[in-house]
Amino acid sequence: MYYICLNKFTFITVLNKLLLLSCLLLLTISCQAQSEKNNSAYDFRDLLVDIREEKLSPEMAGEKFKSILKPLRQKYADQMLDSSEVQLIFPLKSKNYRAVGGKGKGFYARQFNLFDHSISKSHPAHDIFIYDLNRDCKDDNDNQYVDVVAVNSGEVIAVENNWQEGDAYKGGNYVWFYDYQTGGLWYYAHLREVYVSMGQKIHAGDKIGEVGRTGFNALTNRSDTHLHLMHLSLDTDLNPRPINHYEWLKSAQTVYTAQIPENRSVKDVEVFKLQSKSLNDIKLAGKNRSKDIARKTLRTGK
Ligand SMILES: [Zn+2]
Repeated sequence: MYYICLNKFTFITVLNKLLLLSCLLLLTISCQAQSEKNNSAYDFRDLLVDIREEKLSPEMAGEKFKSILKPLRQKYADQMLDSSEVQLIFPLKSKNYRAVGGKGKGFYARQFNLFDHSISKSHPAHDIFIYDLNRDCKDDNDNQYVDVVAVNSGEVIAVENNWQEGDAYKGGNYVWFYDYQTGGLWYYAHLREVYVSMGQKIHAGDKIGEVGRTGFNALTNRSDTHLHLMHLSLDTDLNPRPINHYEWLKSAQTVYTAQIPENRSVKDVEVFKLQSKSLNDIKLAGKNRSKDIARKTLRTGK
């Protein structure tokens, strides 16, 4: 009897151990799968949030930044141009460099570090204003919202479109995109609406949003309605550095009709159909410009 009991007891113990081991094994596999999923899904937007919430040291953030940007730089390496050859589209429809605040003197990049949120005493960007005395985000000249367009062609790498009043975050609704020609990044902040999504390929002149007042400071009455526009250049080691792009803005081409981004739904396209009659003109102009640049590149060998 004792023997049988002992055997039964031993059997149950072994069974329990086996069950426990199986559970541990399953848990490990599941954790590994989750971890791999998280790693592959970790993108530039996640990095920006982690930097903002100071969850990463500046060094770690820098490493993550490089691992995210490296495939993009490799993918579009053949489209990069010398900075003197870059010809932008002005970021606000129907506006030009005269809308840039302080005649271009608003750029102040000292101490800027993308990876260190504790440093905030810089303004490595230009603010581009609309005429909006009543703060309703519409241009008082025609009572219309103002289209924000892509200054160049590229790939959208981060978007925020759910900023809520009361959020402490200063950028509000924003778009970041990788610019094929400069090999750098553009950051558009304070948008009222965002029209593009993560991973989307955009062409110069595409509508990416509308000028707004989102963001902790931009919402306050003392702030005039504007677009905050920053360009970060990336060196060969992918270290980001803000660039004063005022000269580019001065020579930028104005569009009077924003293009519709390629993956907008038919419904959206219908909404903007009336505005799109010169879409092909802009595309043609873009193609001719690319040909000019190609010819120039051939001549200069750059
Ligand atoms: Zn600004």
